[in-house]
Amino acid sequence: MNSPGKSGTLKSIAIIGAGCSGLAAAHILRDAGNAVTVFERSQDVGGRAATRQQQSFIYDHGAQYIKGGSAVSSALITERFRAADLVDITKPVWIFDQQGHIQEGDPLQNMEPKWTYRSGLNTLAKDMAHGLDIRLRTRIDHLQRTIAGWSLFDGTGHPVGEFERVLIAVPASHALEIIEASQLPAAERESVSLQLRKVSYRPLISVMLGYQPAPQTRPYYALVNTDKAHAISWLAWEHEKAPERVPEQAGLLIAQMAPHYSREWWQVPSDEIISDVVKRVAALLDEPLSSPCFTDICHWRYALPAETTNAEQLNAIAFPLGLAFCGDAFVGGRVHLALEHGVAVARQLI
Ligand SMILES: Cc1cc2nc3c(=O)[nH]c(=O)nc-3n(C[C@H](O)[C@H](O)[C@H](O)COP(=O)(O)OP(=O)(O)OC[C@H]3O[C@@H](n4cnc5c(N)ncnc54)[C@H](O)[C@@H]3O)c2cc1C
Repeated sequence: MNSPGKSGTLKSIAIIGAGCSGLAAAHILRDAGNAVTVFERSQDVGGRAATRQQQSFIYDHGAQYIKGGSAVSSALITERFRAADLVDITKPVWIFDQQGHIQEGDPLQNMEPKWTYRSGLNTLAKDMAHGLDIRLRTRIDHLQRTIAGWSLFDGTGHPVGEFERVLIAVPASHALEIIEASQLPAAERESVSLQLRKVSYRPLISVMLGYQPAPQTRPYYALVNTDKAHAISWLAWEHEKAPERVPEQAGLLIAQMAPHYSREWWQVPSDEIISDVVKRVAALLDEPLSSPCFTDICHWRYALPAETTNAEQLNAIAFPLGLAFCGDAFVGGRVHLALEHGVAVARQLI
């Protein structure tokens, strides 16, 4: 079988996954004159750069903010998709250890921008999604080779379209499921699967705790556990991002639990996890925070890659097949890195 689209200009490209990486790639590919269709299994764009709104609380239950990255991601955030409500969280991040001893963080790191949006971190993905052809609630299950490229099939086995190229921009574990269910030449399928299997993810339980009145104001926006031995790995004062994220006089803390804690507590009923986290937060802060007025919880099975894999090796096998891969599985769990990788792979595809 000929390599799909080998002769002639690229015309139709499917992108699987409307996270930040897939969306950044979509723009580069569309700018170059291609017809781009994005398939997203959930009901909204943004993937792990996610925001929820409940009971007048607005919070980022996944990624917390975007670091100032390279010129490529900075240009996307501060120029091309600059939103009116883009803010830099100026308060610093402080650190704490297993014993709960809190101290100032690295001043150099604290000087870097911490980008977010007053109305939620997923503003970036929503802005990037404008004008793109995005099919929400469409989980791609597998691909089948055609003469011109690839047919994509959804979870019910229905074909959703035929494309010359397919860019897979989903976490590696999902990418592996798609590849293993697809019709690829056996040797290539084995090599691609081998690369994808090298990626592992850390699970993370996020717990949101709303208080009225707000918790005590601190000289920092968030705390990070640097010795990785505490049950809490990250604790953020979400209302520091913008007062309109919480009801008047209220505050919202976000506790992200360490991988060892998240694994151990994964199957425990949510209300038990929340009451345990409430006690741990109150103890860490030495503050009477035992009665939140609002709670929410999110289990991220594939939160952050613990091991990444080499995208160049993988794409060297995938490109001749008319396939490509991008996302944080290849560069590390950060929004700016996922954006930059989407752009880089899209440029290679062109
Ligand atoms: C709790 C948590 C905290 C984090 N904190 C930070 C932080 O503070 N700063 C930071 O920079 N990064 C942080 N990260 C990491 C950051 O969110 C990710 O690195 C980044 O968002 C990854 O983007 P992506 O586009 O590669 O993947 P994703 O955001 O995962 O996007 C992939 C998309 O593909 C979709 N998808 C999956 N399978 C299919 C399928 N079969 N068919 C169709 N669609 C599919 C998914 O629904 C998703 O929308 C955090 C992540 C988590 C979970």
